[in-house]
Amino acid sequence: MGCALVYRDEIATYDLGPEHPLKPERFTLAVDLMRAYGLLESEGGPIAVTPRVEPASDADLLLVHDAAYLDAVAAAVPLPGRWVALDAGDTYFGEHSLEAAYRAAGAVVMGVDRVLERETHTAFCSVRPPGHHAGRDYGMGFCVFNNVAVGAAHALEAHGLSRVAIVDFDVHHGNGTEDIFRDDPRVLFCSSFQHPFYPHLGADTRSDHILNLPLPRDTDGTALRAAVAEHWLPALDAFRPELMMISAGFDGHLEDDMANFRLVEADYEWITRELRAIARRHCDGRVVSTLEGGYSLSALGRSVVAHVKVFTE
Ligand SMILES: [Zn+2]
Repeated sequence: MGCALVYRDEIATYDLGPEHPLKPERFTLAVDLMRAYGLLESEGGPIAVTPRVEPASDADLLLVHDAAYLDAVAAAVPLPGRWVALDAGDTYFGEHSLEAAYRAAGAVVMGVDRVLERETHTAFCSVRPPGHHAGRDYGMGFCVFNNVAVGAAHALEAHGLSRVAIVDFDVHHGNGTEDIFRDDPRVLFCSSFQHPFYPHLGADTRSDHILNLPLPRDTDGTALRAAVAEHWLPALDAFRPELMMISAGFDGHLEDDMANFRLVEADYEWITRELRAIARRHCDGRVVSTLEGGYSLSALGRSVVAHVKVFTE
């Protein structure tokens, strides 16, 4: 049992317009690097690429989103060639966006199914659009459906788990995931983020199952590792997750100018290894990771490879 890479070509290629930071190349570059490193099964490596991804069901989406929100998103699909903004400006919606959003959430559901049915130990779901800013009844920050939350809720409801950990190391706070699981202690949610910074939420949260880690600009790997080791790792061990999920955003990389952290590939490798070790102690090494942000193409590709390589060890 190794690692599954869950994606579908349409997720990689659907178009958000020429100036949008969610470029299709974000995804294809990471896969090209995995191929170059010999990580893919087709090159004799340990990572199996899933043949196809089905859209998430409305039943799965309704575990974390309101019905009225699903209706509003479906009604927002514009005419071909047109774009509409779902929120105050950066969550654009085109004619193919609804299908892409359903398939992004579906990819994470599929990753959860494959891992919990023990077809693979770990899965990395390379999805677009990302999800962690989408709350129960809103999309924002490029996110339409909260993919990682849909996957976690599916693990709880369809597979009967009672404890799922979600660790979000994107440079932005996972406000949507916090919104969705605010009153659900079956989920331990850990989010590190630049503060003060978009989306300007989460720094004041006080909850025993939501562990936010607001960190100043210029936070480097030494500081992040120390904070994670102090605040998260003991709590994750005490929680004894039955499934480890990761909102893997790589926009805190030194080379990513979307934000102002100074992380490098070795830091993403370190945190992935720590989370994998916790998963090994409590849930047979079962990890489902899903892509969130990351906008510097080269740094994103290298960071994704550093992240998934840990899953193949
Ligand atoms: Zn981000």
